[in-house]
Amino acid sequence: QRPAAALEVRGLTVHYGHIEAVRGIDMALEPGGITALVGANGAGKSTTLLALSGLLPKVSGSVIFEGEDITRLAPHQIVARGIVQVPEGRAILTTMTVRENLELGAYRRGNSGTPKDFDYVFALFPRLKERLDGVAGNLSGGEQQMLAIARALMAKPRLLLLDEPSMGLAPIVVQEIFRALRSINADGLTLFLVEQNVRQALKIAQRGYVLENGSMALSGSGKELLNHPRVLQAYLGV
Ligand code: ATP
Repeated sequence: QRPAAALEVRGLTVHYGHIEAVRGIDMALEPGGITALVGANGAGKSTTLLALSGLLPKVSGSVIFEGEDITRLAPHQIVARGIVQVPEGRAILTTMTVRENLELGAYRRGNSGTPKDFDYVFALFPRLKERLDGVAGNLSGGEQQMLAIARALMAKPRLLLLDEPSMGLAPIVVQEIFRALRSINADGLTLFLVEQNVRQALKIAQRGYVLENGSMALSGSGKELLNHPRVLQAYLGV
């Protein structure tokens, strides 16, 4: 077992043409921890994630993963380092079965997943086991999110990036997803969580960052931020 992964972001700036969507942000993800990046719609959260995965061309600043500068690596090289993203809107393959989606997740490791891998995700999400041979498009929104997370886990990531896993889900399903994330983290996986659900995200995160209009407005422990007057007022409606 290698030590848990850590990621450091320094002065990350991202442009879309002339638009500066992310402006010189700094972040440090603690190995084995849960770090949350929160902010309103359009703040630049997804842009930050896409940049970390190497999916955006015009990026400056640096991204250091376990001591290695990965800023200029291609997406497949970043995945090969063990950084795996669960994209916004889940992006599962809806015409394929749950099993096939999971098998594809293991592709990076050159196989279609061991029985142990399947058992691990079934323990986390028993409903996927029940629906294993059903078409993924017939799953509920919450089940599709579970599948997206499970598929990413099949790749045996060292760092899991999640883009708004709670989006569009009922509160009770959100609780279920967050419980699973806690459990995955307790098993040693480093998580980076991008969320508009500020309360839930900061509750499970040891460290949080608040992005506003592309700039880092605040950072602190999850607890500190949950009690920060600006967070209370702007994001928690208190
Ligand atoms: P959301 O919750 O909607 O995903 P976000 O915080 O993730 O919001 P981003 O999607 O990163 O925000 O968008 C940040 C800014 O960049 C926004 O002003 C958005 O309009 C702009 N933007 C995003 N994608 C593009 C693009 N492909 N081309 C031009 N501008 C873009």
